[in-house]
Amino acid sequence: MDLSEKIQNLKREKKAIILAHNYQRPEIQDIADYVGDSIEISRKATQEEDAETIVFCAVDFMAESAAILNPKKKVLLPSLGARCPMAQMLTVEEIKRQKAKYPGAPVVLYVNTLASAKAQCDVCCTSANAVEVIQSLDADTVLFGPDRNLAEYVQEKTGKTLIPIPEYGFCPTHLLFQPEDVKVLKLQHPDAEVVVHPECSSEMRKVADFIGSTSKMCRYAKESPCRQFIVGTEEGLLHRLRKENPEKQFFLAYEGAVCPNMKLTTLDRLYVSLREEKHLVRVPEQTAQKARKALKRMFEVKS
Ligand code: SF4
Repeated sequence: MDLSEKIQNLKREKKAIILAHNYQRPEIQDIADYVGDSIEISRKATQEEDAETIVFCAVDFMAESAAILNPKKKVLLPSLGARCPMAQMLTVEEIKRQKAKYPGAPVVLYVNTLASAKAQCDVCCTSANAVEVIQSLDADTVLFGPDRNLAEYVQEKTGKTLIPIPEYGFCPTHLLFQPEDVKVLKLQHPDAEVVVHPECSSEMRKVADFIGSTSKMCRYAKESPCRQFIVGTEEGLLHRLRKENPEKQFFLAYEGAVCPNMKLTTLDRLYVSLREEKHLVRVPEQTAQKARKALKRMFEVKS
């Protein structure tokens, strides 16, 4: 029996579902029951009523969100080291400091934050719904964290003032993209459309034909009549894009754009995680209650 079969057997035995983020390794995406962006897999986690265990192939903050939204289920993170550096950039102390500086300004946090930070905010958002979440607020000035690039992008889209907290939060992987590389790729593939994630720099956003979350990029690639795309997000998404659009071509805008944290989940680790039921993700109930409120408020916003 190969490893994939062993995983499938264990999955049935333990009434588990495997959810994987778009940035996971191809073999993890292929074995998962569902692959998507953070909002899609978080929603999926709440909809799977029969599952007793959720194996979350992603990074720490996403598994925490799944545990917050599914307090009665076991949520497992196959690799404990899979921690998002951007989420670590925003501390509770910084949020409190900025709240004191801007009393009355609502706090909107990207889901790429730890549960302790989410517990301090009014509403969460993802890169797929950030514009709609900010538009839904009856306020012109909003504290927004931790991604400064996403804050800038949403500010451009909504015309509201977004104060980035911390001042320079960023995703180290998306920061690797440079417009110079896109220019070279455009010389080789002049008809290709450039699609980038809003976590990229403003310089990258300027050379893009389309800016959107990973789920929006997938939809765009499917619907566009174009047959070639230069993609500015973590390389894992290209597996899904190629699978869903076998007749189209996708080129990564920078070959080194790999999130090492997302790649920590391997088939071996997934197998051990299911077999030994580790690593169990726990969020203290007091923190979870407050964070749940912010996540649920996000789900109520139409996008
Ligand atoms: S791609 Fe960026 S934001 Fe996503 S998990 Fe990796 S470091 Fe964090």
